[in-house]
Amino acid sequence: MSELPYPYEAQASQALFDRAAAVTPGGVNSPVRAFRAVGGTPRFMVSGTGPYLTDADGREYVDLVCSWGPMILGHAHPEVIAAVQDAVARGTSFGTPGEGEVALAEEMVARIEPLEQVRLVSSGTEATMSAIRLARGFTRRAKVIKFAGCYHGHVDALLAAAGSGVATFALPDTPGVTGAQAGDTIVLPYNDLDAVRAAFAAHPGEIACVITEASPGNMGVVPPLPGFNQGLKDVCAANGALYISDEVMTGFRTSRAGWFGVDGVRPDLMTFGKVMGGGFPAAAFGGRADVMAHLAPAGPVYQAGTLSGNPVATAAGLAQLRLLDDAAYEKVDAVSERIRSLVTEALTKEGVAHTLQNASNMFSVFFTDRLVKNYEDARTQESFRYTAFFHSLLENGVYLPPSSFESWFVSTAHDDRAVQRIADALPAAARAAAEATA
Ligand code: PLP
Repeated sequence: MSELPYPYEAQASQALFDRAAAVTPGGVNSPVRAFRAVGGTPRFMVSGTGPYLTDADGREYVDLVCSWGPMILGHAHPEVIAAVQDAVARGTSFGTPGEGEVALAEEMVARIEPLEQVRLVSSGTEATMSAIRLARGFTRRAKVIKFAGCYHGHVDALLAAAGSGVATFALPDTPGVTGAQAGDTIVLPYNDLDAVRAAFAAHPGEIACVITEASPGNMGVVPPLPGFNQGLKDVCAANGALYISDEVMTGFRTSRAGWFGVDGVRPDLMTFGKVMGGGFPAAAFGGRADVMAHLAPAGPVYQAGTLSGNPVATAAGLAQLRLLDDAAYEKVDAVSERIRSLVTEALTKEGVAHTLQNASNMFSVFFTDRLVKNYEDARTQESFRYTAFFHSLLENGVYLPPSSFESWFVSTAHDDRAVQRIADALPAAARAAAEATA
């Protein structure tokens, strides 16, 4: 048994974690789930309903992770479940084209004006990997600009100075990525247009694309400064490079048209995942039709997938998107705002220096009193306070991301009862954050 540094029990989760550790590296299938940044026993969840998760010990939590974004309607939404059951009953995978994938692509294209064509894949990682390959094939250039603290999945070339789990564990790079794979990646500080201009000046005619999170959520929530995304687009256009907006996290979450619906900057290519899959493995990349025409079988850039456009995943995604009307976004935005003010109120009352940042309904708290504009800023926060804050909330039935470098997510299902549970748990958590020591 690993040591439990906190006074509450999670025996069933711990037993499962011990079993998992014997057969799975670190006991988890995605590193941040292991709770290493905050310590303690990761909760093994057995069910989810609306805004709640129930763990193997039978404890219920208000979920502020929402599967890292996808569950924007809450868990087990009846209409999404019905669509999935209907699809499953007709067979789970055909390896042929099907109507569900056409309908999902049509729904996405109808919502996002610059998204002229879209190709479905199974994960956000696949989406960004394929978008980069397409950008390189289209421009016949090799170099890619990315920003420190932005996470685009575990694509070899994009694992340099990445956010999310890579930020959580402070891995500068990862073994297994060769110099050749990462050598064409230029990593720049986020929100620094001068650095982008300087990189283009230093590598004329060599840069295929700039990839950026539309509004980053993988170093905590660090929105683009006014004009930053437009500046990226303009510099790319002036230099014959493509502007790739990674909307895996923000897509269909920050508005019905994702972050494009917020800032209106037209990307050449975009990537999606999370919300569009309704809790299933579905993701996509797309954009300008003339660029997408270079993709096989229409063009020479190869890309494929056995389960791409899977009928169950597309049914779930389509059902979820169709339920996401203006009223749904108003609801998510409003509950996000309520929770944000409760957090600020509780921390202010205890005199805890913090900055709460949001990108529409995505938000996170940084334990610093300064505006966080980039990864460097994010790293200088007092993360030890987050650990205490996290565990106090967990003990009182509120499930936060187990890392201070992640966004918090809410859903249309977060009702008054769920918000009240958070409000009741916050004073003790704020006190724990105030009393925490490094
Ligand atoms: N891009 C962004 C912005 C993400 O947040 C993520 C995952 O968190 C990815 C890409 C990778 O997606 P996936 O985990 O589905 O591979």
